[in-house]
Amino acid sequence: MNETIKIPQATAKRLPLYYRFLKNLHSSGKQRVSSAELSDAVKVDSATIRRDFSYFGALGKKGYGYNVNYLLGFFRKTLDQDELTKVALIGVGNLGTAFLNYNFLKNNNTKIEVAFDVDPDKVGTKIGDVPIHSLDDLEAYLNNDNVTVAILTVPASVAQPITDRLVKTNVKGILNFTPARLNVPRSIRVHHIDLAVELQSLIYFLKNYPGTDFSE
Ligand code: ATP
Repeated sequence: MNETIKIPQATAKRLPLYYRFLKNLHSSGKQRVSSAELSDAVKVDSATIRRDFSYFGALGKKGYGYNVNYLLGFFRKTLDQDELTKVALIGVGNLGTAFLNYNFLKNNNTKIEVAFDVDPDKVGTKIGDVPIHSLDDLEAYLNNDNVTVAILTVPASVAQPITDRLVKTNVKGILNFTPARLNVPRSIRVHHIDLAVELQSLIYFLKNYPGTDFSE
């Protein structure tokens, strides 16, 4: 993160969304964008967008909007897109395999470099161009290669012991797809994505708040 600007966490979480949309605008040759257009595309209300963008030093002009190049430059710097972030995936089951096959990180400077598993049938093979190593080699590999982010797609029962090993490496962020709640020291950031919980919560909202405007 850019040290001179302190961005609220809620704003920071929307950055990748803005960034992806602005990249598309840029490649279609657009030079400027209004907060209304942005709002429509990323489904964030325009007052929030204006407030978010004011943290980036981007003050939209009435009747002109925001300068796409300026914003892109800011996002690239802030999201550290100029620097490659190395990511490891642990647990090459159904979900892990899907992530390795799905090139969702291709356009960013973020790459799943390596995967780990305990299954001898998987260790030593590759999915896409990502090699699968034995979990025994976890610490040695991660520290040597300066991997800073780990994606966890292992069974919930082993998520905590693996996390305990990760915190002793250079890993600073964990994207946890298991249902387990992880204990980590304060220096490590965990984002938890529990697909079952998300689905249940979506269905709960649909049932209990039908016809509500959810755009806020
Ligand atoms: P998914 O939950 O991804 O759909 P699955 O049902 O195919 O997976 P799981 O039993 O959840 O399989 O295991 C996911 C993967 O994690 C498997 O490839 C398994 O070999 C691997 N795995 C199991 N224990 C460990 C461990 N301690 N460390 C690393 N990988 C592990």
